[in-house]
Amino acid sequence: MASPDPSLLSLNTATTRGKWGLAQAIEGCARHGLRGIAPWRDLLHEMGVDRAARAIRAHGLIVTGLCRGGMFPATTARQRRANIADNLRAVDEAHALGAQCLILVVGGLPKGSKDLAGARQQVKDGIAAILPYARKAGVPLAIEPLHPMQAADRACVNTLEQALDLCDALDARASGALGVAVDVYHVWWDPKLEAQIRRAGRKRIFAHHICDWLVPTTDLLLDRGMMGDGVIDLMKIRGWLERAGYRGFQEVEIFSAANWWKRDPDEVVRICKRRYRRCC
Ligand code: ZN
Repeated sequence: MASPDPSLLSLNTATTRGKWGLAQAIEGCARHGLRGIAPWRDLLHEMGVDRAARAIRAHGLIVTGLCRGGMFPATTARQRRANIADNLRAVDEAHALGAQCLILVVGGLPKGSKDLAGARQQVKDGIAAILPYARKAGVPLAIEPLHPMQAADRACVNTLEQALDLCDALDARASGALGVAVDVYHVWWDPKLEAQIRRAGRKRIFAHHICDWLVPTTDLLLDRGMMGDGVIDLMKIRGWLERAGYRGFQEVEIFSAANWWKRDPDEVVRICKRRYRRCC
């Protein structure tokens, strides 16, 4: 398989969050010749949305996604409304950055609840509530299915199939307003992955996140591996995505409290570029 396009590598700021704020990450991308960046909102708020948008434009970077909206389920109607309001703010921020999509980490079980089906219904209602606003703003919403180990606390949408069922229910004509983010860390294990990527097609795939699955994994959230250090067949998954018509960026997103966050971010980005060419 041909090497990945070097101009389609994006840095998700989760990868360097141990050391870099957003301003440093923007400058780091420019310094290392990366064309894409995907900020997290806490870093974005620290820098200020206007200042960040100006810096990103000044360096000619493309925002491959804003992380994140979502977290819809709640025990009270009041909290659910507050969650919707926060999502509308996230849409505004994504619009200000010209982001290719707003990533939705949809949320898990509300505190004290065991009603998984109810949480999933709240997610559906939440996305339905913000979709018209996002559509008007020109901000595509990308549902990111998360590994089932995070169903309780982070996202009760756990497979690509589930995410695509939501897309079909809420945006049946595949208008480009609602789609999915394929993060290999969350979906690599799924026996239906290839078929669901094919089902998604060009109109539904808005983002492709890369890293690797370490064996053993020592932390459910913060022990992701660098591409090539684990067991995910990254090239095979890229091939499936390309066959489905996806031609966008690959975004490196490595949460790694004990390893990569402790290293010099310039070294981390250099290694990301090398591994991207070799393993992705
Ligand atoms: Zn991701």
